Amino acid sequence: MKQKILELLSASEIFISGEKLAELCGISRTAVWKHINSLKEEGYNIETQPRTGYKLISRPDALVKTEILDGLQTKVFGKEFLYTFFEIDSTNLKAKQLANEGKPEGTVVVAESQTKGKGRLGRKWVSPSGKGVWVSFILRPPILPVKATQLTFVIAVAMVHSLKNIGISDVQIKWPNDILIHRRKVAGILTELSAEIDCVNYVIVGIGINVNQDTFEFPEEFKDKATSLKEACGHKVSRIKVLQSVLKEVEHFYYLYLENGFGEIINLWRENSVTLGKEVEVISGTEKITGLAIDIDEEGCLLVKDREGKVNKIVAGDVSLRGKKGNYV
Ligand code: ADP
Repeated sequence: MKQKILELLSASEIFISGEKLAELCGISRTAVWKHINSLKEEGYNIETQPRTGYKLISRPDALVKTEILDGLQTKVFGKEFLYTFFEIDSTNLKAKQLANEGKPEGTVVVAESQTKGKGRLGRKWVSPSGKGVWVSFILRPPILPVKATQLTFVIAVAMVHSLKNIGISDVQIKWPNDILIHRRKVAGILTELSAEIDCVNYVIVGIGINVNQDTFEFPEEFKDKATSLKEACGHKVSRIKVLQSVLKEVEHFYYLYLENGFGEIINLWRENSVTLGKEVEVISGTEKITGLAIDIDEEGCLLVKDREGKVNKIVAGDVSLRGKKGNYV
């Protein structure tokens, strides 16, 4: 009902009376008043005049539930189970806990900030308050566990489309899990699997997107490798719009993958990859391989052809692309 009141207030440029809102929503005026107060508590600035009613002045710049749901174009993702936090250790950890409790596919966890945001291999993902979209969701795909790695690629393709949708160009994917703009990392994807030998219990997908940081706000150690959507387009970007776009595209490409398989996704991934066709250096465990990144295979492994012509199959590793000066960056 709160959602409906917000919709009515958003659509009106003049004051709407409590009586009218009550009539349109089929509730009492006291109930309207309670919902209005709850919206105010969430950060909505609503002007109230005793005889004329209510008018929406501004919306909160916060990832609150009401705001996320207002205009969210998904069927399942975030619609029924959407958890928002002001601060959390890690959205992936919370989503994992919820998945273990039996929450369904499409459950979404979002936080304003993470104190223990995670990257691959236990690395840290820096997630400052109010600056980005730090989100995880639960998937329960009916696939074999060996295929779960494909989901990182599904999500990467969805990420490219979601950022393009909101007008950000030059978005590319770096194998396996980074989203880049002008060769700098704007987002990362972390996929975690819980499975039996022959079936997936659940997959948690975490996405961290830098939205409104300025370059000077990034930590020294990766300042020259990171970027934000604000940096890319020269103005502040609505985190709500980013999140809504991401949820919509993730849902779309995930169901497309379940219906049509990995083939279509691979092709889209190839089209948007910054890695393929480049000279790369891969550190995989204690091994270092240099060569030409020629393709990815059905499991999402990177195929690197070295000088001897041997094609190396990289399951996991850190990839650097060869820069103009011949060095790897
Ligand atoms: P990699 O980029 O090596 O694949 P991950 O995807 O796991 O690693 O991301 C973690 C790494 O990304 C960290 O070690 C750090 O260098 C960098 N990083 C951490 N937080 C951010 C961020 N908010 N934006 C861009 N890069 C980040």
